[in-house]
Amino acid sequence: MSTHALKVRLLSRRYGAVVAVDSASFCLDQGEIGVLVGPSGCGKSTLLRLVAGLEPPDSKPGAQIVIGGNVVFDADAGLDLPADRRGVGLVFQDYALFPHMTVAANIAFGLHHWRKAEREARVRELLSWVRMEALAERYPHELSGGQQQRVALARALAPRPTVVLLDEPFSNLDQSLRSELREEMRALIKQSGATALFVTHDREEAISLADKLIVMHEGRVIQSGAPHQLYWQPENLAVATLLGEANVLEGMAVNGYAECILGRVPLARSTQGRVHLVLRPEAVQVTPDAHGEVVVERVTYFGHDQLLTLRLANDAMLLARVSGVQRFAPGQRARAAVIAPAAAIRADE
Ligand code: ADP
Repeated sequence: MSTHALKVRLLSRRYGAVVAVDSASFCLDQGEIGVLVGPSGCGKSTLLRLVAGLEPPDSKPGAQIVIGGNVVFDADAGLDLPADRRGVGLVFQDYALFPHMTVAANIAFGLHHWRKAEREARVRELLSWVRMEALAERYPHELSGGQQQRVALARALAPRPTVVLLDEPFSNLDQSLRSELREEMRALIKQSGATALFVTHDREEAISLADKLIVMHEGRVIQSGAPHQLYWQPENLAVATLLGEANVLEGMAVNGYAECILGRVPLARSTQGRVHLVLRPEAVQVTPDAHGEVVVERVTYFGHDQLLTLRLANDAMLLARVSGVQRFAPGQRARAAVIAPAAAIRADE
């Protein structure tokens, strides 16, 4: 028996000539937070809607969705349970709160078949969780954007779904509120024990929310795993560049090292032959040195850190991300050293 809370196998969805989702497979453990990430139009929302039961997947052999051990879609068996029988909670942009209902009534919405005393106790519990007790009798238009999203999460979690699905839940909020609410939502979901699947196109949001990142490209799942693993050991250039800035260098790998324009660079994983090296800017240490071999060409200062564009002795360019404490200026000479292993992607892949 699988212990996965959500298992998606070989799902596809075509709109006319557009293949929105192409044989996508992934799974999430109980309590795990998964994040579908990828550029706009790569099929994230469509895949989420297929899982939710808001749209049917194409009927292709082997296509299946299992939620909490129950098969809710199976192309071979002709099974396709409706959304309300899948054990999922939804927080979608287009699933706004009911405007004519109070906060408490919105949260109670999915509990209409519960006994009154239990329903009231559950609503009280959720109101306290999302710190909205004092606002229980307000209407949605009397709440801030962040408060509305907390109520939407409470409404989705109220019936204790196996999986909660969230499509770009922070996109209508301003930047400072976004990161605050993101951490809060993550904590609430963890506390609830629910398994969650988010959709976002924002890499920082994806990396900070996810236990498991599921990277999509042109309808396909191209890599999934822990954020740290995908960031430092991407299996292809699409994943490497999607998740952050990357220096991509040609190299020749021999066991745990590669020879490249920077000399001998350690590899995150041993391999052989012609490779593209992905070296994160954070892996380049820069020390000011009037006799150094590299020249700082450009400085993009962010406060907490800064991105330096370096010109090497052989005129090649290299990005380095260093702390914002030290001041660098264009034209300044420095030394550069690689302080973390590079990922090697075989050039023939
Ligand atoms: P993402 O969420 O990654 O931005 P979507 O899942 O919304 O991507 O869309 C994937 C592709 O499918 C896009 O090319 C989009 O135009 C197309 N698409 C999505 N929904 C529909 C639809 N209802 N009808 C036709 N094409 C659609």
